[in-house]
Amino acid sequence: MTEAVQTFGDSQARRSWFSAMARGMAHKCPECGRGKLFSGYVKTRDNCPSCGLDLTGHRADDAPPYVTIIIVGHVMIPLALAMKQLFDPPITLQFAIWLPLIVLASWALLPASKGALIGLQWANRMHGFAGPDADPDADV
Ligand SMILES: [Zn+2]
Repeated sequence: MTEAVQTFGDSQARRSWFSAMARGMAHKCPECGRGKLFSGYVKTRDNCPSCGLDLTGHRADDAPPYVTIIIVGHVMIPLALAMKQLFDPPITLQFAIWLPLIVLASWALLPASKGALIGLQWANRMHGFAGPDADPDADV
């Protein structure tokens, strides 16, 4: 099963937001799924090294930290509270368990959520992913 690679040349082609977000979560280009999205931890490349997609137009801004905080806060904190209520372990053991887990989860989720948001923006032709046919004055 092959998936058609969509480029700006077919500006009317529909883009799959699901595969674009999945590719972004895997730190891959939302268009081709092969090139690396980041040159550092969360520094986005200017262009995809595989297909050349211009990645400078994304506007992830503050959304990835919000998504990371929401996910980590809604998963880890209830688990920590449940552990406290059920087993009442010493506070040092709780810190030894939950602090590394929270840091690791945040460290892993931040680039994944940024990649997913860039993929979503690409799939919806938002911001700099609108293509050459887009109205340059449109503020989408
Ligand atoms: Zn690419």
